[in-house]
Amino acid sequence: MTESTITTIPSCEDDYDLHSLSCEEALARLLAAVVPLADAERLALRAALGRILAAPISAPFAVPAHTNSAMDGYAVNARDLPTEGLRELQVVGSSFAGKPFSGEINAGEAVRIMTGAVMPETADLVILQEQVLVEGDRISIDGRHKRGQHVRAAGEDIPLGATVLPAGRRLTPSDLGLIASLGFGEVTVVRRPRVAFFSTGDELRSIGEPLGRGDIYDSNRYTLYGMLTRLGVDAIDLGVVRDDPDALSAAFESAAAMADVIITSGGVSVGEADYTKDVLARLGEVRFWKVAMKPGRPLAFGRVGKAAFFGLPGNPVSVMVTFYQFVQPALEKLMGTTPRLPWTLSAKTTTTLKKRPGRVEFQRGCLSRDAQGQLLVTATGDQGSGILSSMSSANCFIVLGMEVAKLEAGSDVQVQLFELLM
Ligand code: AMP
Ligand code: MG
Repeated sequence: MTESTITTIPSCEDDYDLHSLSCEEALARLLAAVVPLADAERLALRAALGRILAAPISAPFAVPAHTNSAMDGYAVNARDLPTEGLRELQVVGSSFAGKPFSGEINAGEAVRIMTGAVMPETADLVILQEQVLVEGDRISIDGRHKRGQHVRAAGEDIPLGATVLPAGRRLTPSDLGLIASLGFGEVTVVRRPRVAFFSTGDELRSIGEPLGRGDIYDSNRYTLYGMLTRLGVDAIDLGVVRDDPDALSAAFESAAAMADVIITSGGVSVGEADYTKDVLARLGEVRFWKVAMKPGRPLAFGRVGKAAFFGLPGNPVSVMVTFYQFVQPALEKLMGTTPRLPWTLSAKTTTTLKKRPGRVEFQRGCLSRDAQGQLLVTATGDQGSGILSSMSSANCFIVLGMEVAKLEAGSDVQVQLFELLM
């Protein structure tokens, strides 16, 4: 790590248990504190899928490089179009994709041409093969055609020197193709952030360990692994750490030595925070927030050593909600790209929804369409913050605003989609 990944640590300590932050305010404070990584690396094109461009890509030549035909037909010159009736032209050659016609066409001449083939020098339109009468090496054409029709002009896709993809772009499959079409085999991308994470709690066991009475398997490290890996960071799993100040200090110290970002789950709720606070006060600068949301009310943010720190609540659904609402956008900024806002759609709830006013709720929902194409959303049953199956059976969050208390079935609600096509 070359430098601290966050600048100022927004203070909200006074807010704890007194006032709470809105989701927007919490996100704005996180984003304001994060500084994008400056380190870049060169990668082979295929290895760069999903990575963030560190420098723009400009076109070293125009695309297409040559004016070419968009259809199969005959390349002619507009001066030969008859003003009335038909006109006969002599077919003097052919132009195939990869095998251009080398001569030029004179008045009264045409060239057989295929899709993608280079247009002969003096031809300026293509007439579809279905629209001509062919007799041996002569064709008859009528006048109902325009100069430029069915022709792809050189540079119409990308002019020479144009910025094709800006810095900060997350490379998609189409981008890989686009970059390849310009002849580049390597690109410069932002280094992957190293994100270390661990779970806290005496009740947590790792897979393979026997469960004592009251023990549970640690699931947060798996959801975090999945969410971080999808995002394209280096995810470093540091295991389970006991609720013990020495163990916690040691874990934070080794995490801060190896990572740009530390994420923990558990230990920030009101009962446990005091003790986490003592440990963190020695190692860095961390604020404990109360966000007006459910799930995910307690949230800690700051710096441990040189690493940015996110302390997420322990409940499995809270971890996922706070990750997607706060951590993902902050990591995206760190990675040098503009945070993606979730796709929000309006849908009709099929059931009555209730909540407490004064906080935003992220209920888990299943989005579908009825026969008329209307979007419908059905909450996935029990909405407890510990019920991870409600996340797996959902495909969206139903976002219920601060002041909402009850929504009758049939009301419009906003949903955030989990998945997009590309
Ligand atoms: P905490 O925020 O530490 O008070 O934890 C809140 C709830 O989440 C408790 O029921 C914990 O047992 C549970 N929890 C905490 N960490 C994990 C984890 N890594 N995996 C599954 N459940 C957890
Ligand atoms: Mg705990």
